[in-house]
Amino acid sequence: MKIDLTGMNILITGASRGIGQAIARLLGRAGAILAIHYHQNQESAQKLQKEIGSPSEIFQADLADSKKCIRLFEQVEEKFGHIDVLINNAGIAIQSPVELEPETWIRDWESTLKVNLSATALLCKLAIRHFLNHKGGRIINIASRAAFRGDTIDYLAYAASKGGMVSLTRSIARGFGKQNIKAFLIAPGFVRTDMAQRFIDFYGEEKTISDLALNRLTEPEDVAPMVVFLASGLADHATGGTFDINAGSYVH
Ligand code: NAP
Repeated sequence: MKIDLTGMNILITGASRGIGQAIARLLGRAGAILAIHYHQNQESAQKLQKEIGSPSEIFQADLADSKKCIRLFEQVEEKFGHIDVLINNAGIAIQSPVELEPETWIRDWESTLKVNLSATALLCKLAIRHFLNHKGGRIINIASRAAFRGDTIDYLAYAASKGGMVSLTRSIARGFGKQNIKAFLIAPGFVRTDMAQRFIDFYGEEKTISDLALNRLTEPEDVAPMVVFLASGLADHATGGTFDINAGSYVH
């Protein structure tokens, strides 16, 4: 069976790099029309848009700023009329040891929660209102394995922000299912992107792989197919579900 997303409008955040870029590329190949969001990497977003082709469009926004989140959603609504799927993928991971001064530590905490959790929640809220007026829709939130097993001690805020995404997504699935709104979680383990590079550089590839059941590190392209599948509607009865993509690290 070939997945065909022709006629579907999808907003994906953080599509300029890493996992988001791989998801956007595969959604585009399946025929979806994309709102490709980016923050700083305009060139790479433009390149992706060119590759996917029109009517997909690029949209810039700093998701740390709630007004800009609202503007982003409004701009996409204005441009596309309706949105079928929201994918909250943009995220940051700030290394923030507990030895830091409280002022610095809380600044890192707040920055992390703003982008990873508050922006996700706000975009979900805007999407729910939109979906209620358009007979439903789907939300796919890219959380992390860290939401479930915790992270290393320097990334407490990151793990907490991803944990928040879990209860947010499950609450949406429970509360709005009868209005035809579905919500899913993807929980990747280490994926070879800029975000994971610091860890890989520090511990080395061999140590990173030793945690896995499989024999190579997960690539962004290993995450994308599950998102395309969920976006298609073929798995709507899995709403509220979490899809672990971590090369078998839980079962290893
Ligand atoms: P990445 O390569 O670092 O890319 C991050 C993306 O988020 C970029 O497109 C970036 O936009 C965007 N972004 C960063 N700060 C932003 C801000 N303030 N406002 C708006 N957009 C912002 O990350 P990744 O590894 O692909 O991660 C994607 C998602 O997967 C994240 O939610 C991450 O937590 C999750 N995840 C990753 C891993 C992993 O090992 N890589 C594991 C588990 C979960 P610009 O480039 O345009 O600035």
